[in-house]
Amino acid sequence: MAGRASAEGGRPRVVVVGAGLSGLTAAERLCADRPDLDVVVVDAADRAGGKILTTTFNGIPLDCAADAFLARVPEGLELCRRLGLAEQLVSPAQRSAFVWSHGRLRRLPEGLVLGVPTDLDALEASGIVSSAGVARAAEDLERTTPPARHHVSPDDAGSPSGSPSGEGTHGGADESVGALVRRHLGDEVTERLVAPLLGGVNAGDADDLSVAAGAPQLAAAAASDQASLIRGLRRQLAERSDPDAPVFFGLPQGTTTLITALVRALPAGTVRLGWPVQRLTPLAGGGFRLDGPDGDLLEADAVVMAVPSFVAARLLGDLGAAELDAVVDGLASLEWASVAMVSLAVPTDGLTHPLDGSGYLVPAPERAFVTACSFASSKWAHLRRDGTALLRVSAGHAGDGDDAVQRSDEDIVAAVCADLRTHIGLEVAPTAVRITRWPTSLPQYRPGHLERCRSWQQTVAATLPGVWLTGASFEGLGLPACIRQGTQAATEAAAAV
Ligand SMILES: Cc1cc2nc3c(=O)[nH]c(=O)nc-3n(C[C@H](O)[C@H](O)[C@H](O)COP(=O)(O)OP(=O)(O)OC[C@H]3O[C@@H](n4cnc5c(N)ncnc54)[C@H](O)[C@@H]3O)c2cc1C
Repeated sequence: MAGRASAEGGRPRVVVVGAGLSGLTAAERLCADRPDLDVVVVDAADRAGGKILTTTFNGIPLDCAADAFLARVPEGLELCRRLGLAEQLVSPAQRSAFVWSHGRLRRLPEGLVLGVPTDLDALEASGIVSSAGVARAAEDLERTTPPARHHVSPDDAGSPSGSPSGEGTHGGADESVGALVRRHLGDEVTERLVAPLLGGVNAGDADDLSVAAGAPQLAAAAASDQASLIRGLRRQLAERSDPDAPVFFGLPQGTTTLITALVRALPAGTVRLGWPVQRLTPLAGGGFRLDGPDGDLLEADAVVMAVPSFVAARLLGDLGAAELDAVVDGLASLEWASVAMVSLAVPTDGLTHPLDGSGYLVPAPERAFVTACSFASSKWAHLRRDGTALLRVSAGHAGDGDDAVQRSDEDIVAAVCADLRTHIGLEVAPTAVRITRWPTSLPQYRPGHLERCRSWQQTVAATLPGVWLTGASFEGLGLPACIRQGTQAATEAAAAV
């Protein structure tokens, strides 16, 4: 329907732009906490979920992107409890994984935290790093004063003064994960373990990734023992109440279960799909107008923007407000990696390597098209089928441009199968293949990212009161971090409207 849609019955209206996990969480929280509000969620796409998608593959629901979330960060489990999904949660059947290293798959040693080893005997036994690499890592335990930072540019410092930059930095200016781990444990551990593990999460480069934003657990360990990262991590592990508690949770019908449950929790008709916001305009008497498709309009008292940074940059940039220039430039310059997720069904007897782990990672020095491969039917008991293995392969890395998503299907399948032949001895053609392209899908947080985000959010709050920026572009891209940020935006909007 073209024309003006004003708030129903004069109720204050909040429009959430983006029906990904962050936006839907915000909407669910707003509806639950403020039933007096008229909440509308709009999304450009013809489905809700954004980067979350499960479709049927080889007769089974199989995720096209996220298939698990961290159990340690409480917001994921909490939301599942709110939505009545907690009983359905499952944990991976396989806890160990491999890394492709020096010509074969080697099992990752026990005691890794985001790739940083806490058990150096296990590290040595794994054969993933050389004896010299293990000896260099062991220096971390001898140290009584913090290892010097090699280089802190003003850009890296997180704040112009180099003062504490907030969450995860605990009194030190933010730096890259690579810089932190290299100075504590050396280059080999960084390149052979930490970089592939973190790259498996955000398809980025550890030397460019903010510790505070991308690896807050390492930032907390470094803050708790500034001389020894290993000691700081061992202390964290010792404080865990149950060392056997699950590390990840997943949903047997796929992560889309979460999206379906969130949409169901909203009043009917709350979510409008195929509704790209083309323009956001502040109204003279307060509130905002959102221009949608075909002349359709929405008026809102508050707007929660849960869209990727480049979309927020465009919508804010169109306002032409000089006060927002730095925010628009900052949002527009945030880099994103593009990845392809390739699902394959292969006969189990067509592989020479046993799939006795959750999957493997490929470090940059061993550069291949495949950056990670999940042995999905070994990782998850509910995906197990006699005679058929399901694999989920990731390709694409920050800095590669759109290579992984721009190649043709044939080219992607050929490159993936060639790598699988080398890595796990794939000797037969897959019986089914599904390619999901995710262009500009994983934000790359540079050092100082959290500090910059807070400054953008503060500027928007001061210049455009009633607008909130939230989602994976800001304080974490994992599912629990998106839930936390959506909830936070909703709480602030509910208090303000
Ligand atoms: C391949 C892949 C694998 C991943 N695996 C994991 C994992 O295993 N575990 C984990 O925790 N995380 C994982 N993630 C990360 C996680 O899935 C995402 O960070 C998260 O889902 C992002 O949610 P969001 O709501 O912030 O953003 P999005 O999901 O990007 O949602 C933004 C929404 O805004 C909409 N939109 C855009 N422009 C407009 C407009 N103009 N008007 C209206 N709507 C608009 C989009 O259509 C989209 O629906 C993975 C991500 C990818 C890409």
